[in-house]
Amino acid sequence: MSRNILLLPGDGIGPEIVAEAEKVLHAINNKFDLNLGFESALVGGAALDAVDNPLPEDTLDKARKADAILLGAVGGPKWDGLPMEKRPEKGLLGLRSNLELFANLRPAILYPQLASASSLKPEVVSGLDIMIVRELTGGIYFGQPRGVRELENGEREGYNTYVYKESEIRRIGRVAFEAAQQRGKKLCSVDKANVLEVTVLWREIMNDLQSEYPDVELSHMYVDNAAMQLVRAPKQFDVIVTGNMFGDILSDEAAMLTGSIGMLPSASLNSEKQGMYEPCHGSAPDIAGKGMANPLATIISAAMMLRYSLGEEQAAAAIEAAVNKVLDQGLRTADIMSEEGTRVSTHEMGDAVLAAL
Ligand code: NAD
Repeated sequence: MSRNILLLPGDGIGPEIVAEAEKVLHAINNKFDLNLGFESALVGGAALDAVDNPLPEDTLDKARKADAILLGAVGGPKWDGLPMEKRPEKGLLGLRSNLELFANLRPAILYPQLASASSLKPEVVSGLDIMIVRELTGGIYFGQPRGVRELENGEREGYNTYVYKESEIRRIGRVAFEAAQQRGKKLCSVDKANVLEVTVLWREIMNDLQSEYPDVELSHMYVDNAAMQLVRAPKQFDVIVTGNMFGDILSDEAAMLTGSIGMLPSASLNSEKQGMYEPCHGSAPDIAGKGMANPLATIISAAMMLRYSLGEEQAAAAIEAAVNKVLDQGLRTADIMSEEGTRVSTHEMGDAVLAAL
């Protein structure tokens, strides 16, 4: 039976970068006889424009049936003034919550060919390979009640609720411990247990889980310290596990240690290993349609998709090897361009990966 991949190009540079990844996926499908089937659908601003809904029923339906989803990015200035429920991001958040994609895996790897792109000293970042596991469907981004209310004196007050159930902490903890087992066997749990009760419970559950993974060394760090340590000595980390909001911020910080957001993939998984794969960057409206976008983060996300949702390790590794080869050849999109590199367009970068395959 064919495995069904749903392509959600989205907005801005999304369609350009997903087209390159699709090309690579078609080639790998033929090369390894993977029996992949492809469908596409609208999400975000593109869906708002077409049917006035950032997550149309048809898209959600296809997403539920898909084995894996490859998403470009959503959002852009065109839709910034819309009310919250009509924002493109609602499409993304809706997919994450409807499919229960609670585990967000974000590797931050410094490719040796791009070591000079980091703003940190090479000795601080060279060989960097961190995995941030962020809880994605709970915490303060989803907690109820939330809103803006008027107080008795007429002043307005904004409020959100930071909640985690024990079961939510346990399942993200398991994903992180398992990731650590497959890597350097070190897990750092990041919280704010000196101030927030919800993260006191978080820490307690992480400690509890440790007995199931005796080969993994568990440590804890407050989020403010973690933010400092990531720029001071990032190589001390192997796997970091944290809640939705802290993970949002720390994973972007870790991403920038590598120098280019155009190189960073991500995976969001549920307990059935169904996943949505997407680059870490946004829709980059400033360069959309100019052929300048780096498609590599999306192409590497497609490799993660083959590995984590489809169990096709060999095909995933072949894509990663092809990406390494084009970097060795000195091919660079504008965002990762250095003095020695040869500048290529989005399309040329996709073609080069294809040729390297
Ligand atoms: P962004 O990541 O889109 O862009 C930040 C900077 O990085 C820009 O200068 C952009 O040109 C550059 N950049 C990003 N991806 C690139 C690539 N592949 N190649 C080359 N350069 C790249 O972040 P932003 O500007 O804060 O947000 C723009 C829009 O994207 C907003 O509407 C935001 O809401 C949305 N957004 C969407 C997602 C998502 O879909 N997952 C994530 C973040 C932001």
